[in-house]
Amino acid sequence: MADHYQTLGVSRDSSADEIKKAYRKIARELHPDVNPDPSVQDRFKEVTAAYEVLSDPQKRQNYDMGGSNFGGGFGGGFGDIMDAFFGGGGSRGPRPRTRQGQDALIRIEVDLNEACFGTEREISVESAIACDKCQATGCADGETPSMCQVCKGRGETQHVMRSVLGQVMTSRPCNACQGYGSVITHPCRECAGDGRVRARQTIAIKIPAGVETGNRIQLSGRGEVGAGGGPAGDLYVEIVEADHEYLVRDGETLHMTLGISMSAAALGTTVSVETLDGPSDVHIKAGTQSGATVGIKGKGMTRLRSNHRGDLIVHVEVQTPTKLSRDEEELLKKFAELRGEKTGDGHVKNHDGSLFSKFRDAFNR
Ligand SMILES: [Zn+2]
Ligand SMILES: [Zn+2]
Repeated sequence: MADHYQTLGVSRDSSADEIKKAYRKIARELHPDVNPDPSVQDRFKEVTAAYEVLSDPQKRQNYDMGGSNFGGGFGGGFGDIMDAFFGGGGSRGPRPRTRQGQDALIRIEVDLNEACFGTEREISVESAIACDKCQATGCADGETPSMCQVCKGRGETQHVMRSVLGQVMTSRPCNACQGYGSVITHPCRECAGDGRVRARQTIAIKIPAGVETGNRIQLSGRGEVGAGGGPAGDLYVEIVEADHEYLVRDGETLHMTLGISMSAAALGTTVSVETLDGPSDVHIKAGTQSGATVGIKGKGMTRLRSNHRGDLIVHVEVQTPTKLSRDEEELLKKFAELRGEKTGDGHVKNHDGSLFSKFRDAFNR
């Protein structure tokens, strides 16, 4: 363990005054409020421990003679030393019974249609509301809180502390009234003196067009009422968008997959698809490949706080028939023959989509 004199940076024959000055100087630099670093706080405790010993003539004499370390147990007094030093925990006066209420958050699920066009909802929320029975005062039968006899309404009590700096007055919140400065002799039975009760209430909310998962709608003053009837916090309604049967959202763009037959893809066709705005025709050009896309303008999602609509992208998936009747098989074989197609024919595509025709030749060489 470090030498107490070294810790404080003073010589062995320093006067009590010099030791006090040295400690004050170091303590101001290392105080946890100024320097919260844990290593600094360890050093601070060390300094304080040293001072506890060297500031007490009896302990100092003992220490000088190599006696046992009296300065070890400063634990309880530590905070009080700080209070005495820096005025922490000083007078604050009674704390108000009325406090600001908490914000509340609820999540609601909307479907894609509601997210696109907006909607109105009535939601049922359980939260704290002002107690009717006592008008949020917390007192039974129209009483009012009476002055605390222990602290005389100050909300705090004074205590004389013996510390390394001598006797110091410190104040603490009054135990009898929890610092309110007043006591409720007969609390309201409905709210047990809190001034509020929990209740379910129905709130109408407007969900704007274009919302998506994670968006929050703020309803000012619709959160929890504060203790003692204090102002209510805000209510946040968070949007969770339900999955659609076949439409997939990406921001303001919607995607859907449309399966068409091989022959329809080859010959071209017009298919009616159900969009958020009702049926819409999708024109499939002759010779459409699987994976091709057709865009339908303005049938996507609404952009929040605007009238703009994104697009709906239809992804075409050409479906190869799986079960062929004998007649169909014959026809397809004939079809292949007509086109001069042979078993084993295939085309490998380059990254740019062009056919890599050398591939087959290279293998057949
Ligand atoms: Zn009440
Ligand atoms: Zn009191």
